[in-house]
Amino acid sequence: MTLYLDVRDLRRLLQRLGLARLLAEIGAALREDFVRWEQFDKAPRCASHSPQGVIELMPIADGTRHAFKYVNGHPGNPALGLPTVMAFGVLSDMATGSPLLLSELTLTTALRTAATSALAAQVLARPGSRTMALIGNGAQSEFQALAFMTLCGITALRVYDTDAGATVKLLRNLRPYVESGRLAITPCASAAEAVRGSDIVTTATADKRHAGILVAGMIAPGMHLNALGGDCPGKTELDPAILHTARVFVEYAPQSRLEGEIQHMAHDFPVTELWRVLAGRAPGRTRDDEITVFDSVGFALEDFSALRTLDRLAREQQIGQELALVPEMPDPKDLWGWAHQAT
Ligand code: NAD
Repeated sequence: MTLYLDVRDLRRLLQRLGLARLLAEIGAALREDFVRWEQFDKAPRCASHSPQGVIELMPIADGTRHAFKYVNGHPGNPALGLPTVMAFGVLSDMATGSPLLLSELTLTTALRTAATSALAAQVLARPGSRTMALIGNGAQSEFQALAFMTLCGITALRVYDTDAGATVKLLRNLRPYVESGRLAITPCASAAEAVRGSDIVTTATADKRHAGILVAGMIAPGMHLNALGGDCPGKTELDPAILHTARVFVEYAPQSRLEGEIQHMAHDFPVTELWRVLAGRAPGRTRDDEITVFDSVGFALEDFSALRTLDRLAREQQIGQELALVPEMPDPKDLWGWAHQAT
């Protein structure tokens, strides 16, 4: 039987274990999997574009387990009452091809993206970074805020969104952290105001164009930019001039050159894959005044790490249902007989 986790199961797991524990568990799996990068069979994701957005399939395998995610990106969806990003995925046993887990991945994508951003910032941001600008206050934003608070020591946020309602929502959701003194949050009137004085800048905006959320004049020496909203051809957030002044880190270069901020750059523009830093094969930040960019688009390995973590935690917590996704037959060759059994 396949374990099935729907969105309510994921919410139950999150509420039972708490966000900090889930982020830490996914973060630990991410680090383990990035370090053993060379064991994975990797490919850029397969994307189907429409004028409104994109639907992507993201496969990956390590010889023992296989995972794939279905995910969309439709920036106009909130106006239709739907999330910009929706996802589900499957983890399978490679020895038999049996699907082990079918899970929602909308909430999980927010968790794994935030955990990946924090993991990158741990090796790329200036030590002692305390203030983060958070531009784009939509579905991903609170997860980013809390991952940076719990995993990177961020204590102050400077937040901005073109939709003031999104910022009001973020302030409402993060009020307990403000009231307990763990986070100070300053709403700002522009991206430039949010960036001023920040150690880290996270951009999590959604717009299907070359948006230019950050321009070179806003960026001070030593900043770390965590740019996660530009994740598709024709959809970027940074003025390309910033990339010329920075060291740029990506998840998987063949995919990032198509989809990331570096789609603006020549095919041989120098980038470092994050796994190399985590595995000790390449330096992360080398100087306090260096500008670093994590040009994140989201890679299948991150979903693999999240799916294997969910599979373990859900079974431990006895959350989820058994799903008859493939037939269990007394004689595996007798599909006809099984299909005609009385139900
Ligand atoms: P969302 O639609 O819920 O939120 C996006 C927010 O950006 C909205 O509140 C919108 O008003 C705001 N925004 C748009 N243009 C802006 C601008 N010029 N300045 C300031 N704010 C602006 O989307 P989401 O689910 O939070 O996702 C955010 C982005 O992150 C999307 O582009 C999505 O595709 C991307 N994403 C990337 C990864 C990854 O792994 N890199 C993972 C998940 C989502």
